[in-house]
Amino acid sequence: MTASIKKVGSVSVQAGRWTRGKLKVGLYPDGRNAFIPLLTAGSKTKGPVGLLITGAHGNEINGPEVVERVLSALDLSKLRGTLIVLPIMNPWGFAERSRFVSIDQRDLNRSYPGHRKGSFTFQVAWTIMHEVVKLADFVIDVHDAGERQIMLPHSRIHAEPKYDPTRAIGLAFGSDVVLVRDAEPGMLAREARAEFGTPVISLEIGGAMRIWEDYQQRAVHGVLNILRSQGMLPGKLEMPAQQLLLNKREGSAAELTGIQSTWPSIGHVVKPGDPLYQIYNPLTGEKFVHRARTCGVVLSNNILGRVDKGMEAIATLNFTGCGEEALTRGDIIRNRAGSNVRIVSTGLEWRHPAHE
Ligand SMILES: [Zn+2]
Repeated sequence: MTASIKKVGSVSVQAGRWTRGKLKVGLYPDGRNAFIPLLTAGSKTKGPVGLLITGAHGNEINGPEVVERVLSALDLSKLRGTLIVLPIMNPWGFAERSRFVSIDQRDLNRSYPGHRKGSFTFQVAWTIMHEVVKLADFVIDVHDAGERQIMLPHSRIHAEPKYDPTRAIGLAFGSDVVLVRDAEPGMLAREARAEFGTPVISLEIGGAMRIWEDYQQRAVHGVLNILRSQGMLPGKLEMPAQQLLLNKREGSAAELTGIQSTWPSIGHVVKPGDPLYQIYNPLTGEKFVHRARTCGVVLSNNILGRVDKGMEAIATLNFTGCGEEALTRGDIIRNRAGSNVRIVSTGLEWRHPAHE
């Protein structure tokens, strides 16, 4: 885009300072106007338009907290371009601690591109797409794992085509793990790309209705890194020496109803035969120990120990092999700061720095 933007909805963009306003996103069933909060800040010099959004799911609080911390950390005198922020896109779900938009019980991030006159959530999706996302050169959408689970902080990029813009932006987040996936129909990441060609990077940060301080700090660092990578902030990218791009997510459903004990922390590498979790049913005395079938890294786990049969107990991102040769299959990319980051599509000898 790189044209200067004067207004987003009815909110004016001012150089060097935040304007906080509201975006009209639709009509409630009784005909009243519905709004969500919107912030903008610009610069005197032209630059990219970045969109930072969160709170699509009302039971995910780590995203809104990350965004607030990014805003507090930003020095607007150094900003180049326009930053648009939607700090909570689903205030109705947030009020009820629910993933869904409580007005019509739909999932906002499965409702894009939406409809101007459809069901309430479709109106919200349509407005966000056509009044906000349409203006942006790139979008950062922050999520967490919801009520019961926590997730290793990571970015998510499209599987194809191989070198589309989401890849460079997703890598710039700087997480040790990057998930390569095909976004589902109705997700903003998929529909914004289909309709406008706009790259949408999804971030996943912790979960379980708690703030994870270490993950928060890493996420803020990563979002600022993305803004640097897009030329919106000065300074060098701070990247890990190596990043793993993984695409084989394996979730394990609880085999019993009972109490779950989990052994490896998220971010830990597991090998075949390693115990991942045990479920104990105190009514029958039954016990089940679930072991890893392949090498991989623990992506998420259930943090509430009382589980029902069939709930997801743990998820891993599996490597394609367990041998040392897996590590030799990497590419080297050059990030904007000029240093080399090794990109490994699979590998074993990697441990999350926070858990070493
Ligand atoms: Zn979410």
